[in-house]
Amino acid sequence: MADKKEKPQDDVKELTEKLLVTRKNGCTQVSDKTLETADKYCEGYKAFLNAAKTEREVVSFAVTEAEKAGFVPFEHGKKYAAGEKVYWNNRGKAVILAVIGEKGCRDGVRIAAAHIDSPRLDLKPHPLYEKDGVSLFKTHYYGGIKKYQWTTIPLAMHGRVVLKNGRRVDICVGEREGDPQFTVTDLLPHLAEEQMKKTLAKGVEGENLNIFVGSRPVRADKGDNLVKLAVMKILNEKYGMTEEDFVSADIEFVPAFRAADVGFDRSMVGAYGNDDRVCAYPALTAALHAKKPTNTIVTVLADREEIGSYGNTGLESEFLRYFIADLAQAEDMKARHVLSRSKCLSADVTAALDPTYEDAYETTNACYVNSGVGVCKYTGARGKSGTSEATAEYVSEVRSLFEKNGVLWQIGEMGRVDLGGGGTVALYIAGLNVDVIDIGVPVLSMHSPFELVSKLDVYMTYKGILSFYEAE
Ligand code: MN
Ligand code: MN
Repeated sequence: MADKKEKPQDDVKELTEKLLVTRKNGCTQVSDKTLETADKYCEGYKAFLNAAKTEREVVSFAVTEAEKAGFVPFEHGKKYAAGEKVYWNNRGKAVILAVIGEKGCRDGVRIAAAHIDSPRLDLKPHPLYEKDGVSLFKTHYYGGIKKYQWTTIPLAMHGRVVLKNGRRVDICVGEREGDPQFTVTDLLPHLAEEQMKKTLAKGVEGENLNIFVGSRPVRADKGDNLVKLAVMKILNEKYGMTEEDFVSADIEFVPAFRAADVGFDRSMVGAYGNDDRVCAYPALTAALHAKKPTNTIVTVLADREEIGSYGNTGLESEFLRYFIADLAQAEDMKARHVLSRSKCLSADVTAALDPTYEDAYETTNACYVNSGVGVCKYTGARGKSGTSEATAEYVSEVRSLFEKNGVLWQIGEMGRVDLGGGGTVALYIAGLNVDVIDIGVPVLSMHSPFELVSKLDVYMTYKGILSFYEAE
């Protein structure tokens, strides 16, 4: 016989609500109005995705929008008053925007950092060749890609060539209606018996990522490389370039797809380069919209994250530190004192749990589509290698900020322990003695030519960064 109950039973529902984390689809936790606002915000996001597919194009977009909002080029040595808006363009491939706060930078600045480079196929210095009656470009892939995903899709050519005479020519082919497009061919299944026995990593080799660019020769009775010559003739007529000019060019081939709504409910945005333009756009728009920040806010849109942030336009370089040093100097402060009091949201995407590949994740600690901006206390690989980690205190601060401002958020790891991993710019900014945490939009099919993100998560990332900028 059971003991006689002396106390009423625990209220499981109440205790659960009070004590346990419950994870629900975020769409049920926000109003229809919020979903509408998110959808509307993403119309602007899609326009941005279509207008700016490369780091150079994002910088031009950001500078144009910033100038419209009253930002002017930053001049070091000049004193700025609260509310003044400045930008600094690093070689057309990275940009910093700042709004001077009511308190200036004496209590540190608030930084949001996102990257604007994405995986793609770059041209080699001598790209153009002819073989078996067709002309192709040799490429060198940039960033972490599954090479097989980059064959047999329409590609567009973007970039800048600096001609022998120094003239700069910007190229964009394959984006407008009626433009020609390009592609990397793949072997037909009928003849792929040997290829199909290879691993996914080896099935398409880096040296086979050659782009089809032409097949009609110049009219001539004799001569070699007549198809290659015909292609060069077109490029010369259009851009004034010769073959040698490829050596001084930044040319990238990217998927020619336009951003699209995905799903019957249009809940997602599918596009090339959501990583990390899906955080760059919220960081940019938050900088444009932030009202009277207390502390100076600094938005940095950086290049070269996909290859480790190396190079003078990547965040491993000193350019952000120099900029903040200039802000500090204008207020008669030491850069190290400003940096040591600064806080940063390293805004980069994380992996969204993919139901088809659930095994790659640890579901209790994964980020889910539609559950809001994803927070990562640390990234990295193996035993938390190659990453910084936000302190409990800083996580607490960001968590309260998001709660206070109605920002739907979640926290997770990128995937199962020891399965792989990834890094962000966080460790470089942490290296400046700044408090840093990774936040960003969870992505499905990351680094593929067509990545998916939830509109609600995109909007919540914007809201999160805006609340960080407008915090007291
Ligand atoms: Mn990224
Ligand atoms: Mn990436």
